[in-house]
Amino acid sequence: MNLTKLTITEARRALDAKEYSAVELTDTYLKNIAARDGEIHAYLEVWEKEAREEAKKADGMIARGEQKPLTGIPVANKDNILVEGRIASSASKMLEQYRATYDATVITKLKEQGAVILGRTNMDEFAMGSSTETSAFGNTKNPRDLSRVPGGSSGGPAAAVAADMALVALGSDTGGSIRQPAALTGIVGMKPTYGAVSRFGLMALASSLDQIGPFAKTVDDARALFEAIRGHDKMDSTSLPDSARAVKTPKKLGIPRAFLEKGTEPDVLAAFETTLALLKEKGYEIVDIELPTVPHSLAVYYIIQPAEASTNLARYDGIRYGLSVPADSIQEVYTKTRGAGFGREVRRRILIGSFVLSSGYADAYYRKARALRDTIRAEFTDAFQKVDAVVMPTTPSPAFKFGEKSYPLSMYAEDVFATPANIAGLPAMSVPMGEVERDGTSLPTGFQIIAPHLGENTLFTIGSDVESTL
Ligand code: GLN
Repeated sequence: MNLTKLTITEARRALDAKEYSAVELTDTYLKNIAARDGEIHAYLEVWEKEAREEAKKADGMIARGEQKPLTGIPVANKDNILVEGRIASSASKMLEQYRATYDATVITKLKEQGAVILGRTNMDEFAMGSSTETSAFGNTKNPRDLSRVPGGSSGGPAAAVAADMALVALGSDTGGSIRQPAALTGIVGMKPTYGAVSRFGLMALASSLDQIGPFAKTVDDARALFEAIRGHDKMDSTSLPDSARAVKTPKKLGIPRAFLEKGTEPDVLAAFETTLALLKEKGYEIVDIELPTVPHSLAVYYIIQPAEASTNLARYDGIRYGLSVPADSIQEVYTKTRGAGFGREVRRRILIGSFVLSSGYADAYYRKARALRDTIRAEFTDAFQKVDAVVMPTTPSPAFKFGEKSYPLSMYAEDVFATPANIAGLPAMSVPMGEVERDGTSLPTGFQIIAPHLGENTLFTIGSDVESTL
């Protein structure tokens, strides 16, 4: 079995033709994890026994002719998505021993499909970061170059897929955490429209920005996982009714040149231009567009995101969930637990969030950011009157070295092209484009597509065309 070339379509065909069983497929992935994850550290925990049981169940479904698209397909989970009875730590000491008491809706859906969940994968603590270096449980390495980061916050799931330690994976994207690691590890990553996938059972980072989405090696596989997890959920009040936008075949791509030319490394920009030229040959019309406020998305993000995060993280008080440090007074339990349980980046975000929400500063920061968010949304709506999608590189540069972006603002700048889609609630996807060389190693880069609200099908159509240019 060649895992590198394996796709969901091919695995489905082989499983249904009984060329191998779901148990054999799962064992092959478990073996590869045992062989490779020692040095990559994508997984925080591998659920071997449970995965085999789920695979056995999948074989039963196939034997009875009851298989669904993902029956027997091995999936990696991100450590902030709940699976009943299993630890979900968000890569934080705060939740090191926390066991989920229910399944996230996406997990319920995967279980109904008979998918196999291989384990929980590493991430930045509470999904804050762009390199997986803020995990309380060690770094995940980029399978393409072990001296470099896999991106973040979903570095674990991305590395698992890129190193064939899972066929596909679930991630969460609040400000790029699926698309950026996908770009840095050379795979496909997609953030659905806000509300298209239920957030029930996803640990909240910033509730108005968070979305669960797929990692895969191909656009088709990303689509298959997205189709399996999408849909209205009465347990998530922000979940949208089931409806995809009926789209015409996308023809016109808008490039916000003034935005992307600032700060993108020259060879990444060149790879992007090459891809554009190839898309033009395929019949796409490429036009320059102006999105004057969209470049401020990063600043808006780093006000709204910490504001919401500081509020969401108030629940980790040493009483309700996870870690509890004993002390003489309740106040001391709060402070000691939060001091011991949260890492530096998490504490930094709580401080920023509390500051921008405080009565003296909320007008100057939080409310201003909210107002700009409306402007950014409106600019995209206007742009989509003229073009079918907005495209740009996913990140300004390829994977960087461990420690290279230890200054927080340089790490935040990594999200410059990723945050606009979260701020506007739009679906967006990163697809591998041409590679660039750093220190003699060829490194992947990502081509990002942003589509109108519920325009996931536009992403898949353009994404497949980008894929075919490689
Ligand atoms: N890198 C961004 C941050 O640190 C995005 C994180 C995410 O999407 N979860 O907040």
